[in-house]
Amino acid sequence: MMTTSIKCVGILTSGGDSPGMNAAIRAITRSAIYNEITVKGIYRGFRGLITGEIEEFQTQHVSNIVQRGGTILKTARCEPFKTPEGRKQAYDMLCKEKIDALVVIGGDGSLTGARILAQEFNFPIVGLPGTIDNDLYGTDVTIGYDTALNTIMECVDKIRDTASSHERLFFIEVMGREAGFLALNGAIASGAEAAIIPEISLQKDQLAEMIEFGFRKSKNSSIVLVAESDITGGAMGVAERVRREYPQFDVRVSILGHLQRGGSPTAQDRILATRMGVAAIDALLDDQRNVMIGIQNEMIVNVPFAKAIKKVKSVDTELLNTLWIVSR
Ligand code: ADP
Repeated sequence: MMTTSIKCVGILTSGGDSPGMNAAIRAITRSAIYNEITVKGIYRGFRGLITGEIEEFQTQHVSNIVQRGGTILKTARCEPFKTPEGRKQAYDMLCKEKIDALVVIGGDGSLTGARILAQEFNFPIVGLPGTIDNDLYGTDVTIGYDTALNTIMECVDKIRDTASSHERLFFIEVMGREAGFLALNGAIASGAEAAIIPEISLQKDQLAEMIEFGFRKSKNSSIVLVAESDITGGAMGVAERVRREYPQFDVRVSILGHLQRGGSPTAQDRILATRMGVAAIDALLDDQRNVMIGIQNEMIVNVPFAKAIKKVKSVDTELLNTLWIVSR
């Protein structure tokens, strides 16, 4: 066992929930207890940190949750935390509760908040990438991404049955914020004909290109996954355009919405979250601060917050090529 000045660690989940957050909470709690560190669960993200919704966790608090989606700590968005006054209140609460390190599980916004708090008060914080969007730099995958991808695949499989019966062109909108990982890999996994993603939409007119290359010629139905984004226009935006410019198509839209965030995490997400949770405590014991735990080529890595948040993780354009080849 290592020696450390850290005696009490707080855990919170913030921003959009993602399947596997509970597995992470369990791993952080159990690993901290194993290392004789007190654990406090902070409810409702930064909001609960400011208002003091805090409870000491024993090992049984995290029993029977590894398989559950969502987060037992609940999550919230908290505008006051974006102000210096709000963060000072949060810091005062950490002092009052004698919490001397924090593990924050969340997406880009939550880790941005965590980074600012850590810098302002020189407070040890480790982040875990908890988002279905997979849009954090420095980690190959994020907690929840694989589950969301599998959910998308199952939904598209079902939609394909009806699409092929009616010979329709379906635009299915998936989540991802400004990133196309879910749309692109979801399209490959479900055998969709194409994916419209913000990263490429910025460079060229993907819809016009698809229609021009006759992507539908030899097929009686087509499915196109569209990443939600102002850049792509979302599935509604794309469908409206098709109705206007290519009225020969019988177009339908399906927006998968929040069901992509739910459900029991896949084995991959549970294992990822567990490894990352244990690594978060290891990092704190090792005096690491202001880092996000990532995974690269199956190896756990510590990524400075500055990189994880500021740098843009690009989609693998080789995957677009793969989709293009197999959907002809
Ligand atoms: P996600 O973590 O899923 O990206 P949000 O972007 O909604 O979700 O961020 C979650 C919370 O993180 C916000 O409600 C806020 O409390 C905090 N946060 C986000 N951005 C900042 C920021 N620039 N400064 C301080 N706190 C922030």
